[in-house]
Amino acid sequence: MIHIRKLLVCLALLTFSVSAFPQEKPAAVPQKIAIRAGRLIDGKSDTVVANALILIEGDKILSVTPGGTAPAGVEVIDLSRATVLPGFVDAHTHVLLQGDVTEEDYDKQLLKQSIPYRAILAARNAQIALAHGFTVLRDVETEGAMYADVDVKNAIANGEIPGPRMQVSTRAMTPTGMYPLLGYSWELKVPTGVQYVDGVEQARKAVREQVMYGADWIKYYSDHGYFYGSDGILHSHVNFTDEEAKAIVEETHRLGHKVAAHAIGSDGIAAALKAGVDSIEHGDGLTEPLMDEMVRKGVYWVPTIIVGAYVAPGRAGNWTKMVETEKSAFQLALKKGVKIVLGTDAGGFDWRDVNEAKEFEYYVNYGMTPMQAIRTATTTAAELLGWSDKMGTIEAGKWADLVAVSGDPLKDITELERVKFVMKGGAVFKNDLR
Ligand SMILES: [Zn+2]
Repeated sequence: MIHIRKLLVCLALLTFSVSAFPQEKPAAVPQKIAIRAGRLIDGKSDTVVANALILIEGDKILSVTPGGTAPAGVEVIDLSRATVLPGFVDAHTHVLLQGDVTEEDYDKQLLKQSIPYRAILAARNAQIALAHGFTVLRDVETEGAMYADVDVKNAIANGEIPGPRMQVSTRAMTPTGMYPLLGYSWELKVPTGVQYVDGVEQARKAVREQVMYGADWIKYYSDHGYFYGSDGILHSHVNFTDEEAKAIVEETHRLGHKVAAHAIGSDGIAAALKAGVDSIEHGDGLTEPLMDEMVRKGVYWVPTIIVGAYVAPGRAGNWTKMVETEKSAFQLALKKGVKIVLGTDAGGFDWRDVNEAKEFEYYVNYGMTPMQAIRTATTTAAELLGWSDKMGTIEAGKWADLVAVSGDPLKDITELERVKFVMKGGAVFKNDLR
């Protein structure tokens, strides 16, 4: 072993001495830049700060001062007629998907598009999200595109393509036969939208494998087949046995990661909460006792209202009624203090069709104050992601991820659907306020 190591060191030195390595760039002095914000919603305070000066150094916020003057020689971006907010988080996206209202839409993508082609579209989608003010995405599975979300995330982090910061969950899981592609001849080996895992051992192995290839989150589908019972409650068929679901959650937590569970019906939600997941995705069928359990256990709810409303007209079955069910659940959950984080399921609709920020509008229409709605995509989202020390508010030490709109979103929440300025990590991505 030692000999091999010595040889490797020699080879490395030799390579170094004979290669024409370009000279290393001198360490860049972090650039300072300032923003003059006419109105500042910092994500922390309930009041709007007028005429704030945000001083940025490199990719971080150095200081925020009401009034304040920029140090001599520092460029000031004039947003004095705009409202500045923290960059938004969409905590439920699929960058590798381009809409799946119908089964055909979905199958076509898995059967006729290569994963490289889908990754190119994902890069485009990431750019759309950033232009809409979403500086962070939690992408909750690639829908058959294997680990390509890790590549998209890395390409963005390495500065190769513009896009939001990402936390990704790679392939997701169900037991065999509980997720498409389904209905093809048994003679054909067709791709699946998730990794099939059966039994406790396979569940643990799949978690380890997904984490090995770069998953930040583990996502599993807790249920399918949604139906209304005679009790008026939205029910569902639970996918995993309790032992399997528990193995997924335990193994994920043991490796220092978190679990997001797709759970629409009350049975799927109950099973996921029993297993100990960290977030419930969709959650249309949430009942009062399940909400109490979520509050008690500190589990987050990512309701994804947009997608339900978007796909309902194009789908048979209960989808339209489910939008109404979820609206009632949302109103009760809000009263009960369930931690709600903004997620849209973008990719479940074509990224070019709907601005993800429309989700804010639903939350306000469903009873949140505009400030509460903003928190779902900033401070509360940062908690869910475990990034509260890095983002979610505009204050010293946080990433300089900022957006601006020209009107007042506290008076008209749809202003957030018209983001005019986006900065990520101190770099201006978009400025239509010049
Ligand atoms: Zn989804």
